[in-house]
Amino acid sequence: MTAVAFEHIAPATLGGALRALAAPGRTATPLAGGQSLVPLLMERQIRPDVVVDLTGVPGLARITVGPDRVRIGAMTTLRTLERHAELAAALPVLGRAAAAVAHPHIRRRATLGGSLCHAAPAAELPAVAVALGAEVVLRSPRGTRSVPADRFATGAHTTVRAPDEVATEITFPRATGLTHEFHELCARGDTGYPVAGVCLGLRSGDGRVRAARVVVTGCGHVPVRLPGVEARLTGRPVAGPHPGLIASLVAEATGHPGPPDGAYRAEVAGVLLLRALTAHTEGAAR
Ligand SMILES: Cc1cc2nc3c(=O)[nH]c(=O)nc-3n(C[C@H](O)[C@H](O)[C@H](O)COP(=O)(O)OP(=O)(O)OC[C@H]3O[C@@H](n4cnc5c(N)ncnc54)[C@H](O)[C@@H]3O)c2cc1C
Repeated sequence: MTAVAFEHIAPATLGGALRALAAPGRTATPLAGGQSLVPLLMERQIRPDVVVDLTGVPGLARITVGPDRVRIGAMTTLRTLERHAELAAALPVLGRAAAAVAHPHIRRRATLGGSLCHAAPAAELPAVAVALGAEVVLRSPRGTRSVPADRFATGAHTTVRAPDEVATEITFPRATGLTHEFHELCARGDTGYPVAGVCLGLRSGDGRVRAARVVVTGCGHVPVRLPGVEARLTGRPVAGPHPGLIASLVAEATGHPGPPDGAYRAEVAGVLLLRALTAHTEGAAR
């Protein structure tokens, strides 16, 4: 199948892109890496009048590692996230999670902004963005607004982004005091979306969990943060047995709308959480 005919506009400025998206009487869609949008066009699942190509817009792929915040342009490719030395020092989990997405030739084109705006239920980076307390910066002819990552996705493939808004950057706080692990399970031989994934942020002291942030992907329609599981972990030894942890993760994660096999995915996520706790202990010991 081929796409329904559309006009391809490649603006050379952000202003040009915003004007093209806001033009009245026509439906318009931004194009980033095209790794999700192009298949949707080809399968005629979407039929926009205009595709607004962001690849020529300057300044959207900049990475700034500041003392308080890391700012990452929405058009930054996952391959860049994976290989950026300064970013690896500031937010190591981001590059590690990016490296888990699909395979290198997809990661060379797919972008951070595209991943968040596409909002696939099992995607890695939206979950990591929630765990890290990121914000998505949106620009439109009406101005600029910043949306916390945990309020950005509203369902499978839906977000709070208005059709005329462009995600320009994603910003991350640096001083959360937590160290992060990301673990996922993919079906055997599959390089696509994982069955489930867990991003664990942890602060430990004297072998005990002092603070925890747990976000799972694949279990609900959006990344799900689990405050009940976080509370259950806090104060307990990091290493060692965690009886009932998987059951409490399943109970909390499946309380959110999700796929029909959500309970299985949550059980996988529970095992991944135990792996993340072990990895944290091993990392602290090194
Ligand atoms: C074989 C295959 C395997 C994959 N496996 C995985 C996987 O394991 N994990 C995973 O997370 N992803 C996976 N993906 C998806 C890939 O990572 C996505 O294509 C990517 O996340 C979307 O980024 P993109 O830059 O390609 O966006 P596009 O495909 O260009 O756009 C996706 C959507 O976001 C919107 N959009 C993009 N950028 C912006 C912006 N700056 N502002 C506003 N709207 C915007 C577009 O309008 C569109 O609706 C896979 C894709 C393929 C083809």
